[in-house]
Amino acid sequence: MTDNKSVPNVNEEEIAKFEQIASQWWDLTGDFKPLHQVNPLRVQFICQHIAEQKQELFSKNVIDVGCGGGILTESLAKLGATVTGIDMGAEPLNVAKLHALESSLTINYEKITAEEKAQQCNEIFDMVTCMEMLEHVPDPASVIKACAQLVKPGGLVFFSTLNKTVKSYLLAIVAAEKILKLVPDGTHDHDKFIKPSQLIAWAEESQLKCIDASGIHYNPVTENHKLAANLDVNYILCCQKV
Ligand code: SAH
Repeated sequence: MTDNKSVPNVNEEEIAKFEQIASQWWDLTGDFKPLHQVNPLRVQFICQHIAEQKQELFSKNVIDVGCGGGILTESLAKLGATVTGIDMGAEPLNVAKLHALESSLTINYEKITAEEKAQQCNEIFDMVTCMEMLEHVPDPASVIKACAQLVKPGGLVFFSTLNKTVKSYLLAIVAAEKILKLVPDGTHDHDKFIKPSQLIAWAEESQLKCIDASGIHYNPVTENHKLAANLDVNYILCCQKV
């Protein structure tokens, strides 16, 4: 596991990829179209779990780890949460700040790693989200541990990423990057994909109990996403700090 204090858990090449295309972040037809399309479904998944906890997002203190240009971050702010978005890409954060301004939303954006933020802010957030980010870091277990440190006991932490299966190679890399060109070629590295059993094991090592896991299925014809039982490709987890 990455040492929290010395080597930052950042892959500069990965950050550079996002820096390069950051200006497209809010273009609904550009490279981030898949994130815009999936966003309502992940917001629905989050809201459903918050409601099951007999809570609401309004005035809750939330942090979005690896927030990029702020697609999910803004949705959470619109639901009334007090939101912090952190990322290690300067350009995505500049885009996020500008867009929040245009949307008249107050969001605290910071260029900091999850690990450093966790050292500053131990158990101060009611909820943590970390979407489509773990597959871009050298040590995902270290980010999961930091998310667990950031959240208050009893709070929810949401992760989404890609499963490491033959099917995810065929759909997320061959189909999405090479054939359909839904995302730029080279966006994902199959070696960095994470099996749900592995993610859950890392979460549990960090006092996060997985309370729900759902697949996110994409239909390229209708361009719709839906939650489904099969976790073979994209999936989302809801964990609770014990
Ligand atoms: N979570 C957002 C963006 C996903 S794209 C969403 O789902 O809408 C992945 C993001 O992770 C990029 O913005 C990238 O800059 C960021 N990222 C990659 N490595 C990171 C790290 N080590 N620390 C913080 N952010 C990182």
